[in-house]
Amino acid sequence: MIDSKDLDPNFKYEVAAEIGGANINRCFACGTCTVGCPVREIDEKYNPRKIIRMVLLGMRERVLKSDFIWLCSTCYTCYDHCPQDVQLTSIMTALKNIAAREGYIHPSFKEQARLVSKFGRLYEVEDFDNKKREKFGLPPIKKNFDDITKITKDTLPKEVLQ
Ligand code: SF4
Ligand code: SF4
Repeated sequence: MIDSKDLDPNFKYEVAAEIGGANINRCFACGTCTVGCPVREIDEKYNPRKIIRMVLLGMRERVLKSDFIWLCSTCYTCYDHCPQDVQLTSIMTALKNIAAREGYIHPSFKEQARLVSKFGRLYEVEDFDNKKREKFGLPPIKKNFDDITKITKDTLPKEVLQ
């Protein structure tokens, strides 16, 4: 159920002002994006057209708190197929950026950012990995990347690295 008191009519303008969000008002709800979306094939609840409608209706809090905006795999299929050049992939990024600024960051993304900050990659290199490399005459992989840790500490919001 939608309660009009919970709607923010300025949300679409806020998204349009964000980098990548400028074309959101062009959407005429044809559903081409949803039909071609590979994430939708795996999870039928995922519906990019619906996310755009929710933004246009002003359902700010529900959109920004939704796990769905983090499910987009940034494959650009909808971007290429959209007859209105809405640039939905960029809008998803814009929504994630607004959500992140407001502290709504999906836990899996926080974890990925923490790992990259700590190890310079998405998994920790173990001695086992380097021993395997040694066997093949390959040089060891560094376990930590202090320069990446410094960059992420200076650029990522603190709540991401907690
Ligand atoms: S394909 Fe484009 S115009 Fe059609 S619903 Fe998706 S975003 Fe809107
Ligand atoms: S960019 Fe995101 S929303 Fe668009 S088709 Fe790919 S996964 Fe689906």
